[in-house]
Amino acid sequence: MRSTMQHVPLSIASVLRHGIEVHGGQQVTTIGEHGLRRTSFGELGGRVSQLANALRRLGIGRDDRVATFQWNNQEHLEAYTAVPAMGAVLHTLNLRLAPEQISYIANHAEDQVVIVDSSVAHLLALALPSMKSVHTVLVAGGGDTSALEGCGKAVLRYDDILASESPEFAWPSIDETAAAAMCYTSGTTGNPKGVVYSHRSLYLHSMAACTGNGLGISANDNVLPIVPMFHANAWGLPYAALMAGAGLLMPDRLLQAEPLVRMIEQHRPTVSGAVPTIWNDILQHLEGDSEHDLSSLRLVACGGSAVPKALIEAFESKYGVPILQAWGMTETSPLASVARPPATVAEDVALSIRSTQGRAICGVQMRLVDAEGHRLPHDGKCVGELEVQGPWIASGYYGETDGSSFRDGWLRTGDVGHIDPQGYLTLTDRAKDVIKSGGEWISSVELENLLASHPDILEAAVIGVADPKWQERPLAAVVLRKGSTVTPEQLRSWMAERIPRWWLPERWCVIEEVPRTSVGKYDKKVLRRRYAEDELEVFRTDG
Ligand code: ADP
Repeated sequence: MRSTMQHVPLSIASVLRHGIEVHGGQQVTTIGEHGLRRTSFGELGGRVSQLANALRRLGIGRDDRVATFQWNNQEHLEAYTAVPAMGAVLHTLNLRLAPEQISYIANHAEDQVVIVDSSVAHLLALALPSMKSVHTVLVAGGGDTSALEGCGKAVLRYDDILASESPEFAWPSIDETAAAAMCYTSGTTGNPKGVVYSHRSLYLHSMAACTGNGLGISANDNVLPIVPMFHANAWGLPYAALMAGAGLLMPDRLLQAEPLVRMIEQHRPTVSGAVPTIWNDILQHLEGDSEHDLSSLRLVACGGSAVPKALIEAFESKYGVPILQAWGMTETSPLASVARPPATVAEDVALSIRSTQGRAICGVQMRLVDAEGHRLPHDGKCVGELEVQGPWIASGYYGETDGSSFRDGWLRTGDVGHIDPQGYLTLTDRAKDVIKSGGEWISSVELENLLASHPDILEAAVIGVADPKWQERPLAAVVLRKGSTVTPEQLRSWMAERIPRWWLPERWCVIEEVPRTSVGKYDKKVLRRRYAEDELEVFRTDG
């Protein structure tokens, strides 16, 4: 029997239309280096049409890729909406990558036009000559563009070309399964791979972000996406805000703790999202100063790497700000699970639950498998690889035929952990970071979390290193707080009271900071290389 319901495609054009028609007065505020800029969803609609007209004039049609090389700001939001809505494909380039990686990705995606912020034009210029398919660069912002001259591409001023276009555009009807946007994985585990999102997947993901069990974004919110719009769609926050009619507060490139705190105090966002590193930096910046008022934040989404319990506790107790841990990947759009404890549990239990990677959002299914792909029980004990399935989960990579990351329609995440009978996922490692000592797994994440809760430690990363007796043992690389004189022996004794003895690291090094990837995650590849090349000064404690 066929349903009697209308079939209306789910599309970015319809999210945009809703934002304009129903929430036209809602504000988009960009806090740039040169002050504040404001527009409304209604006014944005005209600019988005102008951009679509301009891109069409540059020859952009169905499925053509338009790349962005931009911070979180109004112009990036214009590209986020105009490009998919006109039937082309938005490709967000990560401006923190090395030039060779940027040109590799742009060539792989066959980008034709790049929209760049003038503040990073000099970075794009390093990659541009090798970007074979790019013919035109649109420069947003009034800054210097001389670095782009001589790169062999047409260089046009974004504002000038928009000004000459009509603020009306006849948005085409688009199949909901057509490509809308693409994003490359940050390459923590090898060459970047392209994930292509459909209109439908972005629409459904945004809806999920707006649900109460997701991020619960509504028209009463003012959303501050700190997570870059080039990193996994800024976790879907821009589209979710348009869909919900929530205000957007765009931090542009002011991503350091001091301006962020000022922004939060002055503009009072209610929802924000960023990786743990950012919230840690903010905490360090605020340390000892309880005068600051972050209380407008009703929810701070945090993920991308494990969120230390100590961080959740500190934000809650010192500033009354609830950190909500979420788990996801570029391949999962990214929101897949959220750590919301049931309202009925005691406070200490709730805190433990909030330190997990959470429960699947409706639409996403999770399962654990062993090395042979057999299903493991969700008993909170069995540890295996996480596989996920759902309407906003990738089923392949752009231009890749190797299907090794997929099994029977499920995405193999490369993340390892356990799931309890209530459905809460706890990740203990990424498969390639797992430490196998004498045949047993030691969780580097758990060791890092414990170390991070020590009062003398600012941050810590744990890697597995070869050991003649146990095959592999943990090495703890710690960053100490200023003035601390704590020794590895003392740290080891402190840990001994809290974890099994055989987990205790006997190799230690004190480092200035933990190396990070382009999206702010611990870069253990670099630590492993530094260890292999004898660049780390390693202290041994008693094994
Ligand atoms: P990359 O895979 O290149 O690091 P992604 O940004 O897509 O780029 O990262 C996804 C990965 O980040 C996940 O597979 C997982 O290992 C890690 N991750 C994301 N959220 C969390 C979280 N809340 N806790 C632990 N790890 C997380």
